Amino acid sequence: MRPRSKDSLHCGPVKLPELAAKWGTPLYVYSADAILARFRMFARAFADQPHLVCYSVKANSSLAILKLLADQGAGFDIVSGGELERVLAVKKAAAARVVFSGVGKTAPELDLALRSGIRIFNVESEGELELLAERAAKQRRKARFALRVNPDVFAETHPYISTGLSAHKFGIAISEARALYARARGMRWLEASGVSVHIGSQIREAGPFGAAAERVAALAAELEQDGDHLRSLDLGGGLGIEYDEGTSWDPEARVLEYATTLRGSLGSLGGRLELLLEPGRFLVAQAGALLTEVLYTKQNGAKRFVITDAGMNDLIRPSLYGAHHAIEPVAAPRREQKTAVVDVVGPVCESGDFFARDRELAAVEAGDLLAILDAGAYGMSLASNYNTRPRPAEVMIEGKKARLVRKRESIADLLKMERV
Ligand SMILES: *Cc1c(COP(=O)(O)O)cnc(C)c1O
Repeated sequence: MRPRSKDSLHCGPVKLPELAAKWGTPLYVYSADAILARFRMFARAFADQPHLVCYSVKANSSLAILKLLADQGAGFDIVSGGELERVLAVKKAAAARVVFSGVGKTAPELDLALRSGIRIFNVESEGELELLAERAAKQRRKARFALRVNPDVFAETHPYISTGLSAHKFGIAISEARALYARARGMRWLEASGVSVHIGSQIREAGPFGAAAERVAALAAELEQDGDHLRSLDLGGGLGIEYDEGTSWDPEARVLEYATTLRGSLGSLGGRLELLLEPGRFLVAQAGALLTEVLYTKQNGAKRFVITDAGMNDLIRPSLYGAHHAIEPVAAPRREQKTAVVDVVGPVCESGDFFARDRELAAVEAGDLLAILDAGAYGMSLASNYNTRPRPAEVMIEGKKARLVRKRESIADLLKMERV
């Protein structure tokens, strides 16, 4: 969504101001072609070995995006029964390609997943393993599982999205996993069919993925000696992108290096077992932008503020992680290319409600449109109704056509669940 035509930002042939005029702002806009391009890039990088790309639904759970990927044969990584319902809503048959992660799965969620015939449960505790055995026995259905191991690998990323250290709540200490697999061998309705790991999100180098894969491979080799017949290794998601417009990088080169590193760490297991991969952000982040209109500009002392109609409830990444998003005026530069150093802030009553601080931006005024770029992942899926703000509408662009894939919420939608 970065290319600029003579008079405005556009996505393929579709001009962003036309979308804002038709559907209003704030508005999430996604490019289907960009998502598919990333999906194919991933598939090419792993083409020489058995694998399944299981898109991580929590990155962006829009039904239109799930349908797009399901039609390409993608699998899905889910973390709740609700996410499973979304996958089932777009394609029932895709259940066979679903992996279920998460530290707090409930009995009803396990029941739904068992009934739906998902591919595998990534089990994160001994208690969950026992509950899964019990629910599977009740349905007289075999549950295929992998233990999600915590490899105690450090990955350079924001502390909130790092998951692979023993201090984190995720997974089972890798040193204890073998004993738990041994216990599971005595459970009639469980079948150990893999090992899984996920070390965090927005990791931009291959090294930590390689280190985790090596530990997983060593455990898998021991389990095979112990008598388990493993079918898959799930190496999680987490491959990062570059948000900073000043950093040049090549996504294809990054995913190739990732694939080469994983293959190197897995040795002969890599060619024999199916690799399950769970990219989220890498597939959708850069395919999306949040369009917002400037409501006001103002000067408070030394500070210049640009106040937009989008707020932290629509896109929380800057507030939550201090994340950087490139922001561009949608109209072509004018007014002699003047720029100003500004804070871009939303209308929400929190000082933490900002999209950029001390950012040099082309001069804008009330009524101008801004595009907050790389907002396709962890944008709408983390949106809330804080300040009783309806969540944005979503538009998908396919080739030359743009269509509404989620209506803007109304205030009536927000109030209808309540009773006085
Ligand atoms: C969040 C998550 C992912 C996806 O992470 P990305 O950084 O978006 O690729 C994959 N697997 C699990 C278990 C997750 O929790």
